[in-house]
Amino acid sequence: MSAHRLQQLRADVRARAENRPGVYRMLGPSGEVLYVGKSVAVRTRLLSYFRAERGEKAAEIIGHAHAVEWDHLPSEFAALLHEFRLIKRLRPPYNVEHKRDSSVCYIKLTREAVPRLLVAGHVTSDGSEYFGPFRGRARITEAVRAVADLLELRDCAADTPMRLADQMQLFRLAEDPRCVRGQVGRCVAPCAGGCTHAEYLARIARARAFLEGETDEPLQLLRARIHTAARRLQFEYAAELRDRADSLELVQQELLQLGRTVESLSFAYTVPGHAGEDRVYLVRRGSVRAELPAPRTTPERRALETQACELFSRTEPETLGLRAHEAQEVLLVARWFRLHPEELERTVPASAWTGPPPTPDAAAGH
Ligand code: SF4
Repeated sequence: MSAHRLQQLRADVRARAENRPGVYRMLGPSGEVLYVGKSVAVRTRLLSYFRAERGEKAAEIIGHAHAVEWDHLPSEFAALLHEFRLIKRLRPPYNVEHKRDSSVCYIKLTREAVPRLLVAGHVTSDGSEYFGPFRGRARITEAVRAVADLLELRDCAADTPMRLADQMQLFRLAEDPRCVRGQVGRCVAPCAGGCTHAEYLARIARARAFLEGETDEPLQLLRARIHTAARRLQFEYAAELRDRADSLELVQQELLQLGRTVESLSFAYTVPGHAGEDRVYLVRRGSVRAELPAPRTTPERRALETQACELFSRTEPETLGLRAHEAQEVLLVARWFRLHPEELERTVPASAWTGPPPTPDAAAGH
């Protein structure tokens, strides 16, 4: 980047940017977005880029920027949400890796013809279901392996050829399972006609039911094996199974707790904005479903009430799994309220709109 262009960019920021919340974009030579950032004081943040030392990330970004754009937003929360959505949509090269948190992982139920239960380091928009996040990848890997073994699910590579029993009838082939898990009965072997497609999907449904807290079937299977091992005086093996059962139970408890946390993130959140630009965010299960100017008149208040009532009363599947398109936003919102617990005082719970209709006296304020 030439010194002249840097000077022009800096002059533009000095002339137009204000010290208020907002989101900025660094653009490359063809107008492509290289980086998206947010700040509660956009002008100060942008000017800091021009003072960055060689070797700092900020210096590298501004060094490649051919233009800088920004939007002023009413509040820090609005900026946080706008930044998140822009990054998700545009996937700027300087943001993508930076935003991943390598300390967490998810249980991933893949969206494949013959699905698998895996451990994933991050959520992608590939149609899979994600459960978590969890800390401690090793223990989650163990838990996933235990569920896969107990329900005899496949864990082989995505491109392993599958020969379901329904197909076998068609081709009249007989094959051995392609790996040792199938040979020792830890996988029902859909690769070798061990089950029909429907039978395999029924097993996947049982895994999902466990992750959603609807059943503890894998735990019951483990307990039966513990019992058998103890009866056969295989005490070491029984102790090993008991440890596995304990960690599996813990994972399910964590998911239930997460589900309760996500469920509690259902409310209307009023955020005071710059120069009176107050906004109301309707948040259901941790994702922001609507954003409106805070009502100032009775008709506006009624319009908000109608929208909130419709949104919070709508029937939605109660799932502990986070769908890919919402998982990251749920985590973002949860983190915001964890870091700013005082903001919960600005929320009105969803139950205010989903309870029984107010009596005429109550509605009239008596
Ligand atoms: S038995 Fe077949 S389907 Fe099962 S894990 Fe092995 S290769 Fe995959």
